[in-house]
Amino acid sequence: MPDLLPTSTVGSLPKPSWLAAPEQLWSPWKLQGEELVAGRQDALRVTLAEQNRAGCDIICDGEQTRQHFVTTFIEHLSGVDFEKRETVKIRDRYDASVPTVVGPVTREKPVFVEDAKFLRAQTGKPIKWALPGPMTMVDTLYDAHYKSREKLAWEFAETLNQEARELEAAGVTIIQFDEPAFNVFFDEVNDWGIAALERAIDGLQCETAVHICYGYGIKANTDWKNTLGAEWRQYENTFPRLQASGIDLVSLECHNSRVPIELIELLRGKKVMVGAIDVATTDIETPEDVASTLRKALQFVDAEKLYPSTNCGMAPLSRDVARGKLAALSAGARIVRQEIA
Ligand SMILES: [Zn+2]
Repeated sequence: MPDLLPTSTVGSLPKPSWLAAPEQLWSPWKLQGEELVAGRQDALRVTLAEQNRAGCDIICDGEQTRQHFVTTFIEHLSGVDFEKRETVKIRDRYDASVPTVVGPVTREKPVFVEDAKFLRAQTGKPIKWALPGPMTMVDTLYDAHYKSREKLAWEFAETLNQEARELEAAGVTIIQFDEPAFNVFFDEVNDWGIAALERAIDGLQCETAVHICYGYGIKANTDWKNTLGAEWRQYENTFPRLQASGIDLVSLECHNSRVPIELIELLRGKKVMVGAIDVATTDIETPEDVASTLRKALQFVDAEKLYPSTNCGMAPLSRDVARGKLAALSAGARIVRQEIA
């Protein structure tokens, strides 16, 4: 890994068409049982090769082992009935039919640990593994048991901590929690959201990250973004609390976004994954576009703490576009690395 500006994707990458329908979010698996296990491992081999070829310094699973960034984890817990469904509004933005919490949520067995061991065995590079954050999990379910978002988040944090400790033991370098809900429920973030996140990382020695988010480039998200005004200052509510938390890295959207870049200053002292790739467009950034975003960020984050990344996941994009964007990320980081040197 380079001493400065190590690159990585923030989350998902396109899946091979034999594993799930391409260029769609959350498309169902095409395989089952043992074939699915083998298929996911093959997809990890492919995504590793793609990330290596594009010059990524930190390897992610590219969401090849998750059908959905939240529900795949929840499917492995007891206490949630996937047959019993209710319609709720997710992140105050769109209606979705979701499973119901019907009893105590517990993690009976590991979820991604075998996949993480497999990826660990394939590469000597640092690995980053993503899990959903407790608040975002709560927001993706109907709760008929605890009837308290805070209580349910605390129970989820406990299951996440169990999984995270085993991922760490499997050799994962950075464990990332995806918390798009942190950009919506500001009072709850401060009341219990960050406390639940800290419960999830309790006792970990590996690095930990949180990805807050303005979402994929899907219509519900781009429509929401259009209501946010000329300046997106949502992070302003959350960053001071994250700065004071035990989380090591914070991932945020920068390129083509209306987030005032100086908000990064609120995180001073933390490592920052700067989104220099816009996932809401199929236009491929030039290395100079990436370099320009990184230079701006360098005004507010120390060079040794800057991790160039993408704004969000790239699952809905074509493989050619995702490949081009990852290569641009690496090339842009290389430009700025030389300037700093
Ligand atoms: Zn995201």
